[in-house]
Amino acid sequence: QHDPNVRSTPDINGHSQHANSSTDIQQHFDHTHIIYDNTTDTTYLRGRLLGKGGFARCYEILNLTTNKIYAGKIISKTRIAKPHQKQKILREVQLQKHLKHRHVVEFNSYFEDDSNVYIILENCSRKSLVHVLKHRKCLTEPEVRYYLRQLVDGVDYIHSNRIIHRDLKLGNMLLNAEMDLKLADFGLATRVDFAGEKKMTVCGTPNYIAPEVLQKKGHSFEADIWAVGCITYALLVGRPPFETTTLKETYLRITENNYTLPPPLSSAAKNLIRRCLNPEPTKRPSLQDILSDEFFTCGYLPRTLSPTCCSSPPKFP
Ligand code: ADP
Repeated sequence: QHDPNVRSTPDINGHSQHANSSTDIQQHFDHTHIIYDNTTDTTYLRGRLLGKGGFARCYEILNLTTNKIYAGKIISKTRIAKPHQKQKILREVQLQKHLKHRHVVEFNSYFEDDSNVYIILENCSRKSLVHVLKHRKCLTEPEVRYYLRQLVDGVDYIHSNRIIHRDLKLGNMLLNAEMDLKLADFGLATRVDFAGEKKMTVCGTPNYIAPEVLQKKGHSFEADIWAVGCITYALLVGRPPFETTTLKETYLRITENNYTLPPPLSSAAKNLIRRCLNPEPTKRPSLQDILSDEFFTCGYLPRTLSPTCCSSPPKFP
């Protein structure tokens, strides 16, 4: 299959084998911004900014050995001066390192130089569902089935690796050139060490925080199902279910399970959202239950989605 992240392969004489030459592709990268990984003797060029996070700036970067484009999360050492901050990044890398799935952003490598630490990841050139929703306001039900099915696949894979993501949200659902959804950002994730283990705290502020996490009652995989419900709501309605102007008020609404399901939603969609937003974690559906829910079985589920869906509504048959 054609890989859009490999633009051309130089032959043994250093000439490109394809019309799309390596010199062409290198024009899009900043030759004054060279990144060197001395652990593997690999040189990268920095390209366009993909996004900014709490700590990191994320750029497209080009591996000059392979001509492959990656996403490079670059974290300035001045921002992670405290030992626990660095530890948190290393933990994130440790969790993500061994994961390999079509719907999870693939980890490539980790290295440092004097100024920064670098996390080299699979490139998701179409950014996240935050960007899609910004253009679109809300999505059609077939599109939501498409994204949700891929999200559930990815979450099922990480859960079977005993990892709870704990920060599933639109900004962590990235899209590659082919509109494949990739689950990102394991910054708040944790590994379940034994069956039935309950985690008591999260080091950070999850966006779609579940009531049991908020109330520090002990939480597990079901916290991710809650977030899947919030994501479904947000994609269909255009705003999150418990949104208010203050965090305090939002947390109160989450605790009270106080949200409304506006009329344009189909009854199947409303039902699925209600099931996922059950205050009692054990009563929420499993990931397999979600895929066999009426919301999935009652309507069209596209196999592929056109990139035009990032900015305008699709015309489904
Ligand atoms: P932080 O851990 O500092 O919060 P994030 O992981 O959220 O940083 O990354 C910051 C932004 O960079 C994200 O919102 C996203 O837009 C972009 N980004 C992160 N990873 C990738 C990737 N693999 N491909 C494309 N863009 C990415």
